[in-house]
Amino acid sequence: MIDLHTHTIFSDGVLIPAELARRAQVAGLTAMAMTDHGDHSNLDFIIPRLVTVAQELNAAMPFTVIPGIELTHVPPSIIADAAAKARDLGAQIVVVHGETIVEPVCPGTNQAAIEACVDVLAHPGQITEAEAALAADKGVLLEITGRKGHSLTNGHVARMAKKVGARLVVNSDSHAPGDLMSPEWAEKVVLGAGLTREDFQAMQKEARAFLPNQTQETSASLRMLVVDDDAMSRMVLCRALGAHGECLTAANGREAIDAFRQALAENRPFDMITLDVMMPDVDGRSALAQIRFLEEDRDIEPENRTKIIMTTTLSERKDIEGAFRDQCDAYVTKPVRVDELLERVRQFGLID
Ligand SMILES: [Zn+2]
Ligand SMILES: [Zn+2]
Repeated sequence: MIDLHTHTIFSDGVLIPAELARRAQVAGLTAMAMTDHGDHSNLDFIIPRLVTVAQELNAAMPFTVIPGIELTHVPPSIIADAAAKARDLGAQIVVVHGETIVEPVCPGTNQAAIEACVDVLAHPGQITEAEAALAADKGVLLEITGRKGHSLTNGHVARMAKKVGARLVVNSDSHAPGDLMSPEWAEKVVLGAGLTREDFQAMQKEARAFLPNQTQETSASLRMLVVDDDAMSRMVLCRALGAHGECLTAANGREAIDAFRQALAENRPFDMITLDVMMPDVDGRSALAQIRFLEEDRDIEPENRTKIIMTTTLSERKDIEGAFRDQCDAYVTKPVRVDELLERVRQFGLID
C-alpha cells in the first residue's frame, strides 16, 4: 500500500518524517509521499528537508519516502508557478489541496491545478464533469480520501472519474499516527465510495509510478524520447509514458538528434519518439529527416527503426498530413490526449 498524501511537522502534522515512515511501515505500507502544506513562503524550507530525509531513510530502511508538497490555499492564478518552483526544488510529487466542501478553498483551484498538470488533485469536492474530463486528458490523478470531512464527496468524485475515465488514487491525508490507513482500511474507503476491488488495485498501480525505481517494476521496459519545446507538454507526455519504461526529454530538434545519436552509439536505441512539429531552432520536420538519415546510414532495417509519432496542432495538421507519411509512424493532435497517445503505442505493439 502506497499513500501519496501525508503531513509531518514541516507543516501541521505531529510527527517528524522518520517516525511517520516507521509508523506507516508498521501499519502495512511500503511507501508514502510526504506532502506538507506549501505556498510561496515555505517551498524552499520544506522540500529540501524532505528530499534529504527521504534519501537517508530510503537507504536505511525497507520503506520508500517520496518527497513532495501539497500546495494549499494558493490562489489559482499562481498555482502553476508554485508547482514549477516545487519541482525545481526536487519535489517528486506535487499535490494540490482541492476544493473540499469543508474549507473555503478558492473556486477555480481544481481547474488551475489540472491546467498546471500537477500530479494529484486532493479531495476535489464537487468537481465538475468538465474538470474531471480535463484531468483525464492531462493525466492528473483525482483523490479518494480517508480524511474526515474531505471524504464527504468521495462518492461524487468516484462517479465523475468513472464517467469520464479520469484516473484515481486513495490517500490518507495523515496528520497524526491515528490517521494512517492500513491496506485493508484503504480498500474499505474505496469500496465505500462505490468503487470496486479492481479499482483499488488500479489506484495502487497509479501510486507505484511515483516510486523512484518504478521503471524496473514494469514488465515492458521501453526507452522513449519526448521532444517538445513546451515544458508542460514534455511533463504530460512523460508522465503518461513513464509507467512503461524510461522516458527522456529534449526541448528542440537539435537536442533530439543528439540524444538519438548517443542512444545509437550506446547501442540502446529508442523504441519510440514523440516529435513536436513546431519548435524553434531545428524543428520537428528537420529532426525527423535527420533521424531517419542516421538510421539508414547504419543500415537499420525498416522494421527495426524507431517508431516516431509527430505531435501537431490542428491547424498545422492540414498542411502536413501525409507530408511525412514515409518517415513517421503516426500523428497525434496537440494538446495530446493521453489515451490517444497510449492507443498508438499499443497499436505499435510496444505495450499491451
Ligand atoms: Zn493539514
Ligand atoms: Zn493534506
